[in-house]
Amino acid sequence: MTETMQKITLAARPVGAPKDSDFKLVEAPLPEPKDGEVLVRVHYMSLDPYMRGRMDDAKSYAAPVPIGGTMEGGCVGEVIASKSDAFKAGDMAFGMFGWATHGCLPAKEMRKLDARLPITTALGVLGMPGFTGWYGLMELGRPKEGETLVVAAATGPVGSMVGQIAKARGLRTVAIAGGADKCKLATEKFGFDAAIDHRAYDDAGSLRKALAEVAPKGIDIYFENVGGKVFEAVLPLMNTFGRIPVCGMISGYNAGALGGNVQSDVPDRLPMLWRSILVKQMSINGFIISNHYDLYGKFLSEVAPLVASGEIAVLEDIAEGLENAPRAFMGLLEGRNVGKQIVKVV
Ligand code: NDP
Repeated sequence: MTETMQKITLAARPVGAPKDSDFKLVEAPLPEPKDGEVLVRVHYMSLDPYMRGRMDDAKSYAAPVPIGGTMEGGCVGEVIASKSDAFKAGDMAFGMFGWATHGCLPAKEMRKLDARLPITTALGVLGMPGFTGWYGLMELGRPKEGETLVVAAATGPVGSMVGQIAKARGLRTVAIAGGADKCKLATEKFGFDAAIDHRAYDDAGSLRKALAEVAPKGIDIYFENVGGKVFEAVLPLMNTFGRIPVCGMISGYNAGALGGNVQSDVPDRLPMLWRSILVKQMSINGFIISNHYDLYGKFLSEVAPLVASGEIAVLEDIAEGLENAPRAFMGLLEGRNVGKQIVKVV
């Protein structure tokens, strides 16, 4: 009898927020590794906001997942068969195996895991999201002691990395998070100096007033994770020579914010912001982390010891079972995750 695996495919392109019927759990034969390839049994898979963009058939920095294709994603698991000298059965590895119980990839596309740390850290704090926070802050935010930083989605893996590194460098750190519990986590677990609940304010103006109180010297770095109302609130508070690393805009993902203006002739609102950018001489840099992996080794050597020693706090939200991945993903877009969203597959 052929051995099988399970995977989740994209059954339909979501219109607005994804729903159950946009996904399908399917059975497939277990792949046989060819020369140079490695077969892995996935233990944990990562759920990340960028996956919403892959569900849309819109021009972006990466191709969409085709209908019927396996949802893309990073995973960690155990090597169960190897036709490469680089891996042997029993090794723990990271690879882009997708939303699936097993995956087979060329060894050169996989990474061995540091056995001294829990394997889930390779998906969050020491994986792509943590690296994103570190890179965006250090390379584009250019933090200086005494400055003020604001970041939203502050208890997630990107925002919590940004806040903790900025705090360690002597900045005043202000978190924006959804709900009182997340605000408490932001200050108590991640050391932010202040936290504002964006859900408590209906409009950008009232959110701006609250922000101005906790950022009395203005904002030097706004690490952009969410866009929308938060961005509207922050922009007038930016100081001269302020920096905005533009990392994400999750508030618009269900409305196609990743595709929209990139491909269409819909007028862009940016010209209306031109004057603020000029007068305040701001640096605004969009970035996609996959283009910066030349610095991943530097990130790991700096940050992994801080995670091991507990100086960088880690928060993970682990859903159980591959079949629950779609629901957990929907929760991530709605802010129901508390910390890095992961799915335990076995
Ligand atoms: P998180 O785990 O923090 O999850 C997303 C969070 O976004 C939610 O928990 C919620 O937090 C917040 N959120 C959702 N909707 C809204 C909204 N309408 N307004 C304000 N906040 C909202 O995600 P990550 O840390 O993994 O990612 C953070 C951002 O970084 C995303 O925009 C992502 O796309 C981006 N990113 C970009 C990369 C790049 O290469 N440029 C790479 C990796 C991530 P809360 O409840 O606190 O509001």
